Amino acid sequence: DRVVTPAETGDERAIDASLRPKTLDEYIGQPVMRQKLQVYLEAARRREEALDHVLIFGPPGLGKTTLAHVIAHEMGVSLRQTSGPVLERAGDLAAILTNLKPGDILFVDEIHRLSPAVEEVLYPALEDFQIDIMIGEGPAARSIKLDLPRFTLVGATTRAGLLTSPLRDRFGIVERLEFYGPDDLASIVTRSAGILDIGIDDDGALGIARRSRGTPRIANRLLRRVRDFAEVKGNGFIDAGAADSAMDMLDVDAKGFDALDRRLLKLIIGQFEGGPVGVDSVAAALSEERGTVEDVLEPYLIQQGYIARTSRGRIATAKAYRHFGLTRPDGAAA
Ligand code: ADP
Repeated sequence: DRVVTPAETGDERAIDASLRPKTLDEYIGQPVMRQKLQVYLEAARRREEALDHVLIFGPPGLGKTTLAHVIAHEMGVSLRQTSGPVLERAGDLAAILTNLKPGDILFVDEIHRLSPAVEEVLYPALEDFQIDIMIGEGPAARSIKLDLPRFTLVGATTRAGLLTSPLRDRFGIVERLEFYGPDDLASIVTRSAGILDIGIDDDGALGIARRSRGTPRIANRLLRRVRDFAEVKGNGFIDAGAADSAMDMLDVDAKGFDALDRRLLKLIIGQFEGGPVGVDSVAAALSEERGTVEDVLEPYLIQQGYIARTSRGRIATAKAYRHFGLTRPDGAAA
């Protein structure tokens, strides 16, 4: 597994959960989103109503699940968690919906992967807090309407563009999470180090933050890996030197790129002469799935300006060439 993957790796669920901030005040960064959400939460609490349905989108590891839990905590309600691919049949969703209590949060991760049949059940549930369920089979089958408590759906997706528009239209609150800057990530690292009882100074935290690709989950993972090196190779304390030497051993460079990122950039620069190249060709050449390239590999490289997305495909920018000490042949800043 890549140490810099933004996806949750096998053993990480429990540790991710233990590092989750509980309140909106503890939630670091994302100031614009936080201010707005603070108002929506306060308004809903004053009116003693369930919060409007919330759609959160952004790349993996930026805190979507965390935010859903924060909302539940701030509203003083329970959270029920599921995901698009897990809800296979309409009945799976109906079973969950009919067990919700007033005000509860239903958190659906990867909501863009709901099946059409499940989405059909969701529409009236979101709008009228009712569902139609079929009882019996064949000619004797009939449909009955069930009232649901007023609940709040919190949907999370890595790519809002994949949501059907009727589903998207049913969210009153739509928020996008942005990649975090080094200072916010350093605060996250320092906070996590406190919880995990790891000694670290500001430069050590910043050294980890700078290589965390704007992503809290990666920051927390790198912190744990750097601790391993600091304990075995040093005195256990993480300062700038300890962070740097651990990162060298992990093969994560100063920009937070690992071998796969470098392979991707070199591929576009070398084999595809700087691009434009279609994402399918890139995925095939890397032996990765197209979805992995689009969701996991590219977003940070694009956000940082190493790759640009054009109508004819991906190109490696002048910045990407410079990363390897090269110059883009056409000299274009791209
Ligand atoms: P997502 O659901 O977007 O994939 P998570 O909510 O699971 O991401 O967050 C991944 C990890 O990063 C969690 O351990 C969480 O504690 C941490 N994290 C995410 N956002 C923040 C934040 N704003 N402040 C502090 N920690 C955060």
